[in-house]
Amino acid sequence: MGEKTKLAVSPAIQVGGSLFTPDQLAKIGTVAGSDTKIEMTSFKQLYLEVPLDKREAIQEELEHAGLEVYPAGFATKSLIACNFCKGAEGAGLETARILNRAIAGIATPTPLKIGYAGCALGTSEPLLKDIAVVKMRDTFDIYVGGEPKGIKTVTGRLLVSGLTEERLVFVVSTLIDFYKQQAKGKEKFSKFVDRITMEQLKQIVA
Ligand code: SF4
Repeated sequence: MGEKTKLAVSPAIQVGGSLFTPDQLAKIGTVAGSDTKIEMTSFKQLYLEVPLDKREAIQEELEHAGLEVYPAGFATKSLIACNFCKGAEGAGLETARILNRAIAGIATPTPLKIGYAGCALGTSEPLLKDIAVVKMRDTFDIYVGGEPKGIKTVTGRLLVSGLTEERLVFVVSTLIDFYKQQAKGKEKFSKFVDRITMEQLKQIVA
């Protein structure tokens, strides 16, 4: 049997949440084949095992069906967004899509989860992610260092508030770049935040 690789597949960020159409699910089943394992991850991506030599063709087919395809494993996950129940405009759907395009699928020392909530109710549990974006009326707050695993769960701490949409992508991208450059081996993002300190991170994104 030939070498296999994993693809991370998700639907577009949209009002209503992570919604697949029946055609998209059928397409996933068709390209995967009958003997493939498809894993539902906790971060709203399907992991699909595919033959390495067919990876590009399969990715193209999935994207043609309106799906998004990213690397699995040690990379930033696609934005883990809420359901935008306050509407596309009220909850910042376009901003979330722009942010997702900028930050999803970047190789990182450990898998990195970035959450997004369209309002302070935060029903997507953003503060349990490595980096959290919360829309507050017309601006955005960013939290860092959420750690949901284990029995000592830690919620993210407020790094910067009142960000405009224009600054949002810059700040999140800067955090990811800095983590890539400065992490010690496979240091988890929450540990990295503790070591670097919030004060220094605030200066980095200022
Ligand atoms: S975070 Fe706010 S806008 Fe998003 S689904 Fe929850 S309540 Fe609705």
